[in-house]
Amino acid sequence: MRIFLLRLTGSVMLAMCLAAPASAVEVRDIRLWAGPDSTRVVFDLSGSVRHRLSTLRSPARIVLDMPGARTRPGGFAAPAAAGAVKQVRLAQQAGGNLRIVIDLAHPVRANSFLTAPNDRYGYRLVVDLAGAAALPHAPAAGPSVPVKVEHAPPEARDLIIAIDAGHGGDDPGAIGISGTREKDVVFAIAKELAQRVNGETGMRAILTRTGDYFVPLRERMQRARAQQADLFVSIHADSIVDRRVDGSSVYILSQRGASDEAARWLAERENASDLIGGVSLDDKDDVLASVLLDLSQSAALSASETAAEQVLRELNQVGEVRKHQVQQARFMVLKSPDIPSMLVETAYISNPQEELRLRTQAQQFKLAAAIHQGLRAYFYANPPAGTRIAQLAALASAPRTMLATATASDSAR
Ligand SMILES: [Zn+2]
Repeated sequence: MRIFLLRLTGSVMLAMCLAAPASAVEVRDIRLWAGPDSTRVVFDLSGSVRHRLSTLRSPARIVLDMPGARTRPGGFAAPAAAGAVKQVRLAQQAGGNLRIVIDLAHPVRANSFLTAPNDRYGYRLVVDLAGAAALPHAPAAGPSVPVKVEHAPPEARDLIIAIDAGHGGDDPGAIGISGTREKDVVFAIAKELAQRVNGETGMRAILTRTGDYFVPLRERMQRARAQQADLFVSIHADSIVDRRVDGSSVYILSQRGASDEAARWLAERENASDLIGGVSLDDKDDVLASVLLDLSQSAALSASETAAEQVLRELNQVGEVRKHQVQQARFMVLKSPDIPSMLVETAYISNPQEELRLRTQAQQFKLAAAIHQGLRAYFYANPPAGTRIAQLAALASAPRTMLATATASDSAR
């Protein structure tokens, strides 16, 4: 068996003269997007292909076998090392199998899927590598050391707002007629919103992506959960064939989407260590688990709706609101069963005037300010117990006479 192994690093050109059937599917390009916690490798293909993925250790690597595939004659520039990927090697094997080895900087959880052509790309095989560099260095389980638990009174905590800029990396989102990419404008709005939230006493923002890379949808939810977010807001810009349509809309999860997700949580609860609203489901019987989940989802949905209404009200002051009611849809990122979540379609990027406005910092700031004001109004009216906002809200709603007395006695000292 003859195996050709080619090492690809940096801008080294790949050139292979290999015998493969003329009808073989070609790998035409390899693209890499690296984020802090995950790396996406995209193989551009000339057609649909079967593949098998295996994860190997010592050294950590991913092996992809594509029977009947080959690389494009003349080759292509290999991607530079990035994120979890050290290098990509390709080998044309006897029998027409193309073997691709992705050498890893650290162990990862790998997930692969084939995507159908769209208006920009043909068939693509996408390999997502999740796991940050620190993952393999977790200390091995040793003798247990007793942990001292202090029972100090709990400090009032900051509210956590998870801000999710839609799309990113190889997924540009919608594209306007002047070439504006949704992923860029929504990221600008998300960053501005984060800054405003962080400027607020008692609130802290986390971004589900902090640069131009793709984060899988479920992973976005998981990042918010891992940080115990009090609210999740996803920022998008809509697109529609009719270019006259403009304005913003706000979505929450539909009842149908909530039911689908409940079924999934119940089916997987033995394997899941996640707590729903602070309780574990895996030790509950079926009926109790589904009741607890249903209670948590209903509370989260109702909170989502109230918060979304506030945001919609503020957006109404900025400009055209497309739909004056909060909309419901089965968006994946809204499916956390215990975190109030909303998705804001800030504008129609398909509308040429809105597209041009969306590109300006002034409009991005206006939209961020409106979302911030909406969230602020919601949390001051409905502060979670134990937060600084709860203390501040109580102070703000104290009867005027009490405030006046306090002020007078303070200045008398
Ligand atoms: Zn979008």
